[in-house]
Amino acid sequence: MKSKLDDVLVLSEKEKDKMAYKEAIESTLGMILSSINSQMAYTGKDAFSLRKEIERLDTFPERGIGWEKIKEEISEHILPNMLQTWSPYYMPHLHSPALVESIAAELIVSTYNSSMDSWDQGPVMTELEVKVIKDLAKLFGYENGDGVFTSGGSQSNITASIIARDKFLAGLGVNAKEDGISPYADRLRMYVSEISHFSFDKASSVMGLGSKAVVKLPVNEKMQIDIEKAEKIIRKDKEDGLMPFLLTGTIGTTDYGSIDDIEKLKEIADRYGLFLHADAAYGSGAILSSYRERLGKLDLADSITVDFHKMFLLPISASVLLVRNEELFSPFLLHADYLNREEDEKEGFINLVGKSLQTTRRSDAFKAYVTFRMRGQDGMKKVMDKVIGNASYLYSALLKNGNFLVPVEPALSSVVFAVKDGEEVNRRLRKALLKKGLVIGETKKDGKTMLKATLLNPNLEEKHLDELIDLILKEKDEIRKNLA
Ligand SMILES: *Cc1c(COP(=O)(O)O)cnc(C)c1O
Repeated sequence: MKSKLDDVLVLSEKEKDKMAYKEAIESTLGMILSSINSQMAYTGKDAFSLRKEIERLDTFPERGIGWEKIKEEISEHILPNMLQTWSPYYMPHLHSPALVESIAAELIVSTYNSSMDSWDQGPVMTELEVKVIKDLAKLFGYENGDGVFTSGGSQSNITASIIARDKFLAGLGVNAKEDGISPYADRLRMYVSEISHFSFDKASSVMGLGSKAVVKLPVNEKMQIDIEKAEKIIRKDKEDGLMPFLLTGTIGTTDYGSIDDIEKLKEIADRYGLFLHADAAYGSGAILSSYRERLGKLDLADSITVDFHKMFLLPISASVLLVRNEELFSPFLLHADYLNREEDEKEGFINLVGKSLQTTRRSDAFKAYVTFRMRGQDGMKKVMDKVIGNASYLYSALLKNGNFLVPVEPALSSVVFAVKDGEEVNRRLRKALLKKGLVIGETKKDGKTMLKATLLNPNLEEKHLDELIDLILKEKDEIRKNLA
C-alpha cells in the first residue's frame, strides 16, 4: 500500500508536504499509544532473541519498503521491545522518563532542525539559549556567569577539565591552545572522589594526561570526600613537584547521591591554587526542591555541571556546563571564515560555537525553556520533593524491615542496599527481579554486591516501594532455596 509520505521529501509551505508531515506524526502517535499497555518496565525479548530478530532487518535494501511497511515493522519489532522509562518499576540508573510537554518541544526541535553553532543556523534558538543560560546561572548563584548546553554530564565534565587545565597553564604564562602541554603533561594532576563519575578518567585520557593524572580521593562513611586526607594528598603532590590544577566535588554521586562539602573543598582549592569544579550532574535538580541547602554553596565553584536529563526529567540529551565568567571558554574560541566570522560578531551576532566542543549542535535549551516556564519553580519543586521523599521512605522502610543492610542515608533520590543473606543471594537478585519486569540497579561497596534503587519517577508511589520490598523478600527466599 502506498502512503502520502512515499512521494514527499521535506516539509514546505505546500499543502501536499504539510499533509504528509501530519500523516507521519499522527500515525506515529497512533503506533506509540497502541504499543503502551503494560505498567511494567520491560516486557520485550531477551538479549539473544532480540539480536536475532533485529539481525534480519536490512538497513540498506535495494528498494525501499515504504512508509506503511516500515510502520508495520516498527510496531512489530521495535516498540514491543522498548524499555518503558515511565514505569514505576524502572529504577536502575540515573535515567528518567521525560515530562510530556518536553517531548512535544522535541518535535519542534527536530522539525525545524536548527543548529546552535552560528546565529544564522538558529536565530531564535541562539537567543533563547543565551537567555536560558543567563537565568540558570543566576539560579545557581553566578551573577556574571555563562554556560553552554552540552550532550551530557560527561561532555560538561570534559569541557570543565580542559578549561581548568588551560587556565592553570595560562597562570604560568603558557598558552595551551597554541603551544600544547607537552612540557607539563607528566606532572599535571586532577583530583576527584574515588566514587566520582568516570568521565574525569575520560577527560584526562582525551587531554593526553593519561589515567595517572587522575588522583582519587578517599571518601568517609557518608561517601563524601574525606577533607583532611584530601588536603594531605594534594599538599604532598605539590611538595613532590607535581602540578595540581583541578579539584572536583561531586554534588550527588552516581550511586549514593552523596554530596561533597563544597565549602571545605573551596578552602583547599584556594590554598593550593586549584580550579574548583562541582559535578552536579545528578544533584543539580535539587536546586528546585525544598532540600536545596543540601547542595551547599555551589556558587563557590568555578564551574558547575548541570544535567537536565536526570532529575529534571527532560528528554536526552540535555546538559549544561555553567562557568563563573565567559572568559573561561577561551580554549574553545576559534574563528572560521565559513562559519563564525569575527566581523559578524563585532556587529553583535552571537555564534555559540565558540563555547562548545561540538560544532553542529541540537537546540536543547528549547525544551528547558518550555518545561521550566510552563511548570514554574513551584511545579518543579513538587517533582523534586516527591522523588527525594520517596528515597527517604524507602530508606526507613528497608531499615525497619530488618532483612536489609542500608549503609548510607540518602541525600537525594537513590538508595543503596543489600539483603543480609550473603553475597551470592545479592548477586542473583537483580536478574531475578528483571525476569518479573522490575528493573533495579547494582553496584559494589567494599567489594560486595549492592542493589540500588534510583527513584526519578514522580509517578512512583510508596505502595510501589512496599511492593519492591515484598518482591525482593520473596525472590531472595527462592534464591536461597535453589542454593541450598
Ligand atoms: C550521570 C553522571 C555524569 C555523566 O552524565 P551523562 O549525562 O550521562 O554524560 C557525570 N557525573 C555524575 C555525578 C553523574 O551522575
